Amino acid sequence: MIPEHDPLHGAAPDTLAVRAGQVRSAEGEHSEALFLTSSYVFANAAEAAARFSGERAGNVYSRYTNPSVRTFEQRIAALEGAEQAVATASGMAAILSTCMALLQAGDHLVCSRSVFGTTTVLFDKFLAKFGVTTTFVELTDLDAWRAAIGSRTRLLFLETPSNPLAEIADLGALAELARSRGVLLAVDNCFCTPVLQRPLDWGADIVIHSATKYLDGQGRCLGGVVLGRAELMAEVLGFIRSAGPTLSPFNAWVFTKGLETLRLRMEAHSASALALAEWLAVHPAVERVFYAGLPDHPGHELARRQQRAFGGVLSFRVRGGREQAWQVIDATRILSLTANLGDAKTTIVHPATTTHGRLSPADKASSGITENLIRIAVGLEDLADIRADLARGLDAL
Ligand SMILES: *Cc1c(COP(=O)(O)O)cnc(C)c1O
Repeated sequence: MIPEHDPLHGAAPDTLAVRAGQVRSAEGEHSEALFLTSSYVFANAAEAAARFSGERAGNVYSRYTNPSVRTFEQRIAALEGAEQAVATASGMAAILSTCMALLQAGDHLVCSRSVFGTTTVLFDKFLAKFGVTTTFVELTDLDAWRAAIGSRTRLLFLETPSNPLAEIADLGALAELARSRGVLLAVDNCFCTPVLQRPLDWGADIVIHSATKYLDGQGRCLGGVVLGRAELMAEVLGFIRSAGPTLSPFNAWVFTKGLETLRLRMEAHSASALALAEWLAVHPAVERVFYAGLPDHPGHELARRQQRAFGGVLSFRVRGGREQAWQVIDATRILSLTANLGDAKTTIVHPATTTHGRLSPADKASSGITENLIRIAVGLEDLADIRADLARGLDAL
């Protein structure tokens, strides 16, 4: 959050996105400097002692703090409207660090069934080893969330829109439920970014990002960030200092520069995805499109209320099965066949055999990951070229 004495206090998001968190060095550089240093020197022994004891503020070691990392943290915190941010080495490190800092053996968490696959593995396989149990529920079923909360429940965890079927969670209702039961609500806001959705405004306690996706925006670096109230973030930072899943200053610097163009990019991704979804919805080889921007999507009204636009990710089912889906994917000559998203380059993937390949056939069926499903993360290329590349395979079906 920007303090009152700061000239950026009260500034609009577009201004914060390019200026928040910058600290100029004595060199007077205009663009943000990159502080590639693991440690810091002290003027004298007394200064070193004061900094180590915490009596005096200042950098000690880059596992704890680094000016480039701090700039990124302050800028994303300003955009999410968070008191504080703690950057991490990856999105998964952000999720792990949140859990390690805020949960203990015997605690329970409730998680949406439709979260990033590795998040499910982290909760189900690794947190369980330390006595933290998870109940998975249907993202959009408020009664299921309510019923799953028990006396040891500490945290509700979700993503909205979900991947790849773009289901929408009611953030206000879930935040109200969390508050009434004295548990924390954490939202992985990776698909929307603060440009499209600010979960803290709806009452969430914690926001998490894989910065690897849209915050970078060009598919270069891994990173993550956790945001929320200062007292919660102090716990998360305490874990990072002790365990070391720290964000590299270089990656932080890339993300800081990424934030400067985030709004323009998210608007372009969203506009192209909406146009592509509308085109796919009437294509004779397409059975169904999943994108909350389409009026017949079950989450459309809710998404309109809590998001500024519908984002860059959509999925669709072709008529047929795996063979037809693979034909469409293999016929593309421009799109990138890769699981990543949030890139300037459009990506295409077959969830059932890649991102969701670990699910059992029963879980795939119950979560709608059918063999004829294709996911697209729409990039910044000319829309006509993206459409023509998809049409190569679709028109031949
Ligand atoms: C990619 C992703 C993650 C994991 O982030 P990494 O940076 O790859 O560790 C978590 N949540 C969502 C929604 C993601 O898309």
